Amino acid sequence: MAEVVRNYRYRVYPRAAQRGGLGRVLDLHRELYNAALQERRDAYRKCGVSISYSDQSAQLRGIRAVRDDLAALNFSALQQTLRRLNKAFASFFRRVKAGQAPGFPRFKGRDRFRTVNFVYGDGCKVRTDARGRRVVYIQGVGEIKVKWHRPLPEGARIKQIQLSVDSRGRTFATLALQAPAEVFAHGVGGAGEVGIDVGLEKFAALSDGTFIENPRFFRASEERLAEAQRAVAPRRRSSRRRHKAQQVVARIHAKISEQRRDFHHQVSARLVAEYGFIAVEDLNIRGLARGRLAKSVHDAGWAEFISFLTYKAESAGTRVEEVAAAGTSQTCPECGTTAKKELSERTHDCPCGCRMDRDTAASLIILARGQAAWTGPPRMAPAPAAA
Ligand SMILES: [Zn+2]
Repeated sequence: MAEVVRNYRYRVYPRAAQRGGLGRVLDLHRELYNAALQERRDAYRKCGVSISYSDQSAQLRGIRAVRDDLAALNFSALQQTLRRLNKAFASFFRRVKAGQAPGFPRFKGRDRFRTVNFVYGDGCKVRTDARGRRVVYIQGVGEIKVKWHRPLPEGARIKQIQLSVDSRGRTFATLALQAPAEVFAHGVGGAGEVGIDVGLEKFAALSDGTFIENPRFFRASEERLAEAQRAVAPRRRSSRRRHKAQQVVARIHAKISEQRRDFHHQVSARLVAEYGFIAVEDLNIRGLARGRLAKSVHDAGWAEFISFLTYKAESAGTRVEEVAAAGTSQTCPECGTTAKKELSERTHDCPCGCRMDRDTAASLIILARGQAAWTGPPRMAPAPAAA
């Protein structure tokens, strides 16, 4: 029986002192990541030599001998961080080989480095604390309270725990579980990976080159709404006719949100059935990037969609990764070059020869950022490149 890996994510609640510990762990891992990047960068730029994961991993013991703070951290978790860098380089070299001119992997600031991975049983464990509660133990942080909003499936083995802090400061533990598919009660999501860029004109662009259109009935309902609202204005305040006209407006509003909800349910179900890994923009970091009015109208809907998606993904073990949205529409998915685009420019047309729909390009960047954030057990098929 083929086994599958599914990710179960739980919100965890570190105490104030533990948050400090987690912050230090993240800072040290980030320091290691950036230092390892520096080494690879220098070697590549100065001598054209590429340094491997095992070269860097072999240096870990020496580093820990002179750095007490790093020595106190879990060894294999540090290796996971080096692997994460290795993955960034692997995709860099893959692109170089393909004749592209990709952007060199970058140093990570605090807001771009929010996760640490632990191999299960090594510096991390699900166990019972002194008060009889089931907690997650993380080396360097301690026993953290977990909200077990759904049970761990019986018979699944925990392979890894990823600790992450999102842009709102919430902490999560994502457990990578391995078991025969039937162990996961709700069935499993698809195997593909996808990045999603939400738009105004179209509902979304997917990194496989397809689009999800806004349903037509939205526009029709919105026209009816505008008309009904115009009927309210000329009525005298607190008159019966005004009251009636207002009721019409309220009914149309309710109708529209019902239609939108149905649409969000359909789209999220379809995506989860098709993909095991979905990268989307993080609404909270996205804020400043776009026009404000259109954005606020739009984001209300997007937030609902994301909550449906997350909820469905969770039952199916599909992973939803929220990524920073800054610059997604200005970066070339092929070569990594950034260039400003006017809002009216609908096509991404890079000197490197990469030419595609602007939103498709953005969705590929979102997918790449999502993949870079995830270093858990490998998933199956990578997303097909956009045409
Ligand atoms: Zn390019």
